[in-house]
Amino acid sequence: MTTYVYGFSQGRREMAGLLGGKGANLAEMARMGLPVPPGFTVTTEACRVFLATGEPPPELEDQLARHLAALERAAGKRLGQVDDPLLLSVRSGARFSMPGMMDTILDIGLNDLSVLGLGKTPERERFAWDSYRRLVQMFGSAVMGVDSALFEALIGGLERQHTVADDSRLDTVDLIRLVEAFKDLIAERTGEEFPQDPSEQLRRAVLAVFASWDGERARIYRRREHIPDDLGTAVSIQTMVFGNLGPDSGSGVAFTRDPATGRPGAYGDYLPNAQGEDVVAGVRNTVPLRQLAELDPGSYKELCAHMDRLEAHYQDMCDIEFTIERGKLWMLQTRVGKRTAQAAFAVAAQLADEGLISPQEALARVDGDALAHLMFPRFDTSDPDVGAVVARGVPASPGAAVGAVVFDSAEAVRRDGAGEQVVLVRQETTPDDLPGMIAAQAVLTARGGKTSHAAVVARGMGKVCVCGAQGITVDPVERSFTTADGVTVTEGTVVSVDGTEGVVRLGAVPLAESEVMRYFEAGGRAPDGEAQQVVRDVHRMMALADSARRLEVRANADTPEDAARARRFGARGIGLCRTEHMFLGDRRPLVEAVILADSAAGRTQALAALLPLQRQDFTGILEAMDGLPVTVRLLDPPLHEFLPDRTELAVRIARQEAVGRTPAARDRALLSAVERMHEENPMLGLRGVRLGLVAPGLVAMQVRALAEAVVARRQAGGDPRAEIMVPLVGAAEELHLVRNEVDAVLADVARESGVPLDCPVGTMIELPRAALTAGRIARDAHFFSFGTNDLTQTTWGFSRDDAEAAFFPAYLDRGVFERSPFETIDREGVGRLVEIAVAEGRASRPDLTVGVCGEHGGDPASVHFFHAAGLDYVSCSPLRVPVARLEAGRAAL
Ligand code: ADP
Ligand code: MG
Ligand code: MG
Repeated sequence: MTTYVYGFSQGRREMAGLLGGKGANLAEMARMGLPVPPGFTVTTEACRVFLATGEPPPELEDQLARHLAALERAAGKRLGQVDDPLLLSVRSGARFSMPGMMDTILDIGLNDLSVLGLGKTPERERFAWDSYRRLVQMFGSAVMGVDSALFEALIGGLERQHTVADDSRLDTVDLIRLVEAFKDLIAERTGEEFPQDPSEQLRRAVLAVFASWDGERARIYRRREHIPDDLGTAVSIQTMVFGNLGPDSGSGVAFTRDPATGRPGAYGDYLPNAQGEDVVAGVRNTVPLRQLAELDPGSYKELCAHMDRLEAHYQDMCDIEFTIERGKLWMLQTRVGKRTAQAAFAVAAQLADEGLISPQEALARVDGDALAHLMFPRFDTSDPDVGAVVARGVPASPGAAVGAVVFDSAEAVRRDGAGEQVVLVRQETTPDDLPGMIAAQAVLTARGGKTSHAAVVARGMGKVCVCGAQGITVDPVERSFTTADGVTVTEGTVVSVDGTEGVVRLGAVPLAESEVMRYFEAGGRAPDGEAQQVVRDVHRMMALADSARRLEVRANADTPEDAARARRFGARGIGLCRTEHMFLGDRRPLVEAVILADSAAGRTQALAALLPLQRQDFTGILEAMDGLPVTVRLLDPPLHEFLPDRTELAVRIARQEAVGRTPAARDRALLSAVERMHEENPMLGLRGVRLGLVAPGLVAMQVRALAEAVVARRQAGGDPRAEIMVPLVGAAEELHLVRNEVDAVLADVARESGVPLDCPVGTMIELPRAALTAGRIARDAHFFSFGTNDLTQTTWGFSRDDAEAAFFPAYLDRGVFERSPFETIDREGVGRLVEIAVAEGRASRPDLTVGVCGEHGGDPASVHFFHAAGLDYVSCSPLRVPVARLEAGRAAL
C-alpha cells in the first residue's frame, strides 16, 4: 500500500521530492531536536493523483485520520473540541520553493463553539475571535473561492469607522461582527455556509492546497522559474502555535547571514504580538531582529543557537520562520535561503574559509548568472530624491540605462545618429523594431514576458530591457505613455531603466560602476588589500574555476578592440572572427563594384581593391591576439545584403524619372543586381560556402588577405595563429572544393614571402547534414566549430527572427519547450546532432579540434552540455567570457 502521509518524525531533508521542501525541512528540524510544532505531511504523490483524476487517492482519508489521531493523543486535545481545541495549519510546499504562490490556511478547527472554548479567559477572548476571523477569511478565499478583496473591503469599512491605522486595534466586538459579515459574504457568494465541522474543514483545505498548484499565480511563477508543471505540491498539517497572544508573543523571519550582502551574523525582522503571515504581508512595521535580544533575551539566545546549528547542518545560509508563544520559541520553517548575486559569492567564500564546505563545493554554489549580475552597472538609488517610478515590469535583461524615451524605431535611429541616448518604448516589439533596439540604450514594453521578442532580442544584444509593464499605456500616435497613476511621459523625457529590478524611473539616476567589471577590465589580477570584498570573492571563485575546467574559452570578436578586451577577460583566442563588417561602411562602394563587375577581369580588379583593407583588419586582430588562435570565418551572408534596399532604389529612380532626368546608370545597374539576386528566403539561400563556390575570387581574396597579414605579423616578430573557417558546409564535397582553393592561395603566399604557412582549415557545423556526415567532412577539416544558432534554426526548421515573435510565447506557454532553444541548447535534438558530429568527426580524425561559436557558448546550461559532449572550447561574446570560464569550471566538478 502506498504511504501518502508521513509524520514529521518519519521524514528527512532528502525527501523534498515527496514531502516538498517545507515538509522535508520541518521533518529534518524535528529530527535535529529543534522545537517544531508537531504535524505530518501529505505527499506530492497524493497531489499528483488528485491533479490527474480530480479525486484524492482512496487510501488518503484513512491515513490522514490515523496521523490526526496520533497527533491528538500526543497533544492531549482533539481537533475542534469545544473546550481548548486543537487547531491546525494546512500548508502548501512544493519541491522547489514557490514563495506565496500557493495557499496556506491557518487555525483550522475553529467554529462557532470552539471559538468560545479558545477564548474562555477574558484575556484570550480577542485573540480567539481574531483567529476565527482569520480562518473564515482564508478558508473563504482559498477553499471556497470568494474574492479576497471582498474580505479586505469589509475590514477596511470597519477600520474607517474606527479611524484606526490597521486591523490590530479592532476590538472583540468588531471581530465578532467581522466573522458574521464574512460568513454572510461566503453564503451570499457561494450559496453555501462556512463549514462548522473541523474534519470537513481539514479535508477541504488539503484539497484546496492540492488545487492551488494549478492556480494562475503558481503557473506563471513556474514558467518564469523553469519549474516543471507535473511535480505537484505536498501539504503539511501542523499544530498551530500563536504569536498573537500578547506582548510576550510574536513572529519573525530570519536569515543566518545577510541575504543582500552575505555579511555573517543573524539578520531578520520581528513583529511582537503577531501571526507570521503579518510579517511577510507587511501589514505592520516590523522591528530589526536584534531588538528581540532586549524584548526576550532567552528566546533570542535560543534562536541564535538554532540558527547556528541549522547553518552547520545545511552547510549553507538558511532562512527561517519562527513564532514565540508566551516566551516559548517555535521553529516553523527553514530552507537554504535565496540571496543576491553578491551574497552568493560572499557566502560561498566564507563557508569555505570556515571549513564548512570544500573549495570545490564553494564553486558549485555560485553561478554564471550571478556573476553576470555583478558585472552590470547599477543605479545608485541611495539618494532619497531619486526619480519617481513610472513603470514596473518583468526584469527581462539586466543592467542600467538612461535615455530619452522615443516611440518608434526610426526616431530611435535618428536621435542615436545625433548622439543622443534613447530608450525605445513600445507596446511590444517586432522584428521591424530591430534597428531601433540596436540604436537604443534600453527597451521598455507594455506587453510580453521574459520570452517576448523584446526580451529575447535585448538579452541577445546585452541591452537593458523591462517588458510587460502592464501599468502603462503606450500611445505611439501621441508619442507618449501614461503610467498607472495617470502621469503622462512624452517623447524626449529622460528616464532610467533598471533591467535588474524591472523598474523605470523619471530622470537620470546616477550610475554606480560595477567593481567586478573594473576588476575584469584590469585583466583579472589578484586584488590587493584595498579591493572590495565582492571583488576578492569573485577572484577566488574564478581562480578555482580556471584550475578546475577542461574547456577552453575563446571569444567572438571582429575588431582589435574587442579582441584585446576579450583577452583581458580571460579569453584564450578568438573562436569566431566574422568578416561581414569589413564589407560595410565606406567600403560599400568597393563591394558594390565586386557585385556589379561584368567581367572576370573587372571582378578581380574590384576584389583587389578590397584586399589591402581586409589585410589591415586581420593584422590588427592577430596582433591583439598574438600567440593565441584566431579563427577567421569566410564571408557568410548573401551578397545582396551589401546592396541598397530595393524599394529605396526604385523610389530614387522613379523620382529622377518624374522630374524628367535620366536616372544614374549606377542606380539602374544596382537595381537590376538587387532584383537578380533577390531571394525569398535568404537564410537558406546563396550564402556561406555556396557563395564562395559561385562567386569566383572571393575566397581567394579573403584567404590571401589573411595569409599576408600572418606573414606581416611574423615578419614583425609576432606569433600569429590564424585559422580559416568555412561556413554553412553541408557536404564534404563543398569543403573539399574550397580547401583546394584555400591551400593553393596559402601555398602561393608562402612561396612569395618565403614564410611557411600552416594555417589550420576547418568548417562550421551548422546544418543537420553536416552533423550527420561529419565523418567524411572531417577528412578535409582540421577543426569543427558548431554554429549552434544556425544549427538550431535548421534542425527545428524555423527562422529565429520570425519564430521568436510569432509563436515562441505560445510554445513556452503550452510547454513545448521550457526555454527558448536559442537561449539554451536543445540537448535532445540539436545536442544529439552535436554528439554525433563529435563522435564521427573524431573517429575519422582523432586530433580534430572541436568548439562552439554560437551564442550558446556563453549560456551556463549550454556550457555544461558542451563540457559533457567533450568539446575543446566554447566561444562567446567578450563580455560573457568570465561567465563561460566560471561555468566551464563548475561543469568539471
Ligand atoms: P508560505 O509558503 O507562503 O510561506 P507558509 O506555509 O509558510 O506559507 O505559511 C505562512 C505563514 O503562516 C508562516 O510564515 C507562519 O508564520 C504561519 N504558520 C504556518 N503554520 C503555522 C503554525 N503551525 N503555527 C503558527 N503559524 C503558522
Ligand atoms: Mg513560509
Ligand atoms: Mg551561421
